[in-house]
Amino acid sequence: MDFDMLGLAPRLINVLKEQGITNPTPIQTQAIPHAMNGRDVMGLAQTGSGKTAAFGLPMIHSLMKAGVKPNPKTSRGLILAPTRELAKQIADNLTAYTKGSHLKVALVVGGAGIVAQTKRLAGGVDLLVATPGRLIDLLDRRAVRLDETIYLVLDEADQMLDMGFIHALRRIAPLLAKDRQTMMFSATMPKLMGELAGTYLTDAVRVQVNPPGQAVKKINQSVHFVAQAAKTDLLVELLDKHRDELAIVFGRTKHGCEKLYKVLEKKGFAAASIHGNKSQGQRQRALEAFKAGKTRVLVATDVAARGLDIPDVRFVYNYDLPNVAENYVHRIGRTARAGADGSAVALVAPDEMIELQDIEKAMKENIPVASGRPWEIQPGQKKRPNGGGGRRGGGGGGNRGGGQRAGGNPGGGQGKPGGRRRGGGGGRGRGKTAA
Ligand code: AMP
Repeated sequence: MDFDMLGLAPRLINVLKEQGITNPTPIQTQAIPHAMNGRDVMGLAQTGSGKTAAFGLPMIHSLMKAGVKPNPKTSRGLILAPTRELAKQIADNLTAYTKGSHLKVALVVGGAGIVAQTKRLAGGVDLLVATPGRLIDLLDRRAVRLDETIYLVLDEADQMLDMGFIHALRRIAPLLAKDRQTMMFSATMPKLMGELAGTYLTDAVRVQVNPPGQAVKKINQSVHFVAQAAKTDLLVELLDKHRDELAIVFGRTKHGCEKLYKVLEKKGFAAASIHGNKSQGQRQRALEAFKAGKTRVLVATDVAARGLDIPDVRFVYNYDLPNVAENYVHRIGRTARAGADGSAVALVAPDEMIELQDIEKAMKENIPVASGRPWEIQPGQKKRPNGGGGRRGGGGGGNRGGGQRAGGNPGGGQGKPGGRRRGGGGGRGRGKTAA
């Protein structure tokens, strides 16, 4: 299947070709024809699946065809994303796809100068990519109005829900043109998403590339049962086996991530950290250094769980398990991208067993054990309190969960991850082991 089979303008197809984009991905094949027909779309796909083009190309096609110049302080299309990094990534992609056309793409996110953004909007734009908070600021300042916005995209809508953007959405949506096309994309489909879709979509077509809430099969997952106090040593040991590979280590708290990053640096790893206590500039620089392979280990809170399109991440370490099971899916989606091998390794302390249970329930599978044995869940045991990993304020970015493939575990486990064996085998460190 080629892009011309989907009805896109030859001009646009040529621009894509120049960028090496010749064959539509499954989500594009499924979504583009409906979007071109003006239908609302509910897309279930991870970042990396090519979803930006899935929603972007039909809008760009229609805007090119209409040839209408936007009025001052308006935008014809609005793409809302939960984090600054994801918004930037979307804007970069859309800018590339609109190359050589008259279409203007603008990015408005927190942490960047509002004056320049106001100026950019003054003449009107065709596509506006925004994080909700900054958009509301600009609306309040009357730097932009949305009554001529006929396309709305909610990207990573599940994360928008998690991050409490629902109020922002409630404020923004009524300001848009009544007669508009809305597309919603999400990697997972929690129950609340259904309600969100019911509120904002009309007679939507549902397209899906991966079953929601399940990691794509080709990531090699394993779990080590290890006491909290022994985690750093184990992590160093695991990282040390693959010093040349890119690894993301997810931690629960900003403080914890910073501490861990410093330890790793001391141990001689080219490491960086990214979390809500870092400025936007620092976060961007850390990401770029990591993408360029200058740093090999990125220690991050969930700000980096989504939206990041880093092709060569071979390992995702869950140093701490996420509080919300869906974030596990997003985190591990940072690896095994674009057909590469990838391993997701979880280090689980006794007080994270409820989290692990939730994750396995969401994934509908048990994660193979690499070392230790499952901790006993204590009567009345609850999840660990949320670390407040700095996800507010425009965190880190969408994910690209793209085509994983099956294959041998390139490492990351001590010993062979076997099947699930609850009980038996000596547990690591302190804490109670299963009977
Ligand atoms: P996305 O899921 O939209 O974040 O896309 C992930 C990456 O895949 C981006 O870098 C896109 O430029 C690229 N991409 C999107 N569509 C295609 C395609 N049909 N063929 C090859 N690469 C693509």
